Amino acid sequence: MRTIQELQASIARLKQESDVCILAHSYQSPDILEAADVTGDSYQLSVSARQSNCKRLLVCGVRFMAETAKLLNPDKDVFEANPEAGCPMAEQFTPEQILAEKAKYPDCAVVAYVNTTAAIKAVSDVCVTSSSALQIVKAMPQTDILFIPDCNLGAYVQAHCPEKRIHLVQGGCPYHGAITLEEVLAAKQAHPNALLLVHPECNPKISAMADFVGATSNIMRYAKESDAEEFLIGTEISIVMHLSMACPDKRFYPMASRLICPDMRVTTLADVERVLREIADGSAAAVTLPVAVSQGARHSLEQMLCYGNG
Ligand code: SF4
Repeated sequence: MRTIQELQASIARLKQESDVCILAHSYQSPDILEAADVTGDSYQLSVSARQSNCKRLLVCGVRFMAETAKLLNPDKDVFEANPEAGCPMAEQFTPEQILAEKAKYPDCAVVAYVNTTAAIKAVSDVCVTSSSALQIVKAMPQTDILFIPDCNLGAYVQAHCPEKRIHLVQGGCPYHGAITLEEVLAAKQAHPNALLLVHPECNPKISAMADFVGATSNIMRYAKESDAEEFLIGTEISIVMHLSMACPDKRFYPMASRLICPDMRVTTLADVERVLREIADGSAAAVTLPVAVSQGARHSLEQMLCYGNG
């Protein structure tokens, strides 16, 4: 069995030979993040995917992120480090279900969280990320908004944007959304001096009691820049580890120890190296999307990038 260092050395050589840019989501393991060219949350990966000069992109994350990279880079070959890595939230509705919901509110605009399949993006008007959702909804001309699929993020936007009528569907992240108020109160009691930093995919009652609510990258920035010394981290548990490594003088605790996304754990460093070998010998399967889906989904993503990230 090869060591992490041997795999990383092989990855560095293979990606240079095949002109591959590796994009890794912040929830990936440290050995993958070290081997990546770009790390960040969904929005940062989307933007970086477009700015890369490499001919090929390899995405370490979940399926919708690879689709997004392909949509924003139609001329590049995009590969997934592990095609088994999906996102239950992104895949919980069909386009037909969303169109049926839209029919109830004829004048509404459909706002899709970027954590959706390309097929869902294709029936939406604009995509948003957790950090841009509020700014984009406020800037949109429509008063009625059908916000999909995360009802917690949608409720957070509604709470801060009372001038809009936000219609929700009952979707969301099965991990962020499952954390209870009781668990958070217990964590606060155990660490009374810690600031509570949470992702808006959490229950709105938890967001309402937080010291800071934001996307993963914003939570990380806030924790690094804050003068506080202890933090309860209300997003995927890997961020606790990454922050602990980045800020050894500060203490980071998970808001709940079961806030783990199994899909984000599927990809290994060995997967990354294997796919790079397959890219080199021409046997790797690149991400493909139907033309009609691509056109509609790309439009929603382009709209998101036009509005900016706030
Ligand atoms: S943490 Fe939740 S939203 Fe993120 S990839 Fe996992 S299931 Fe999807």
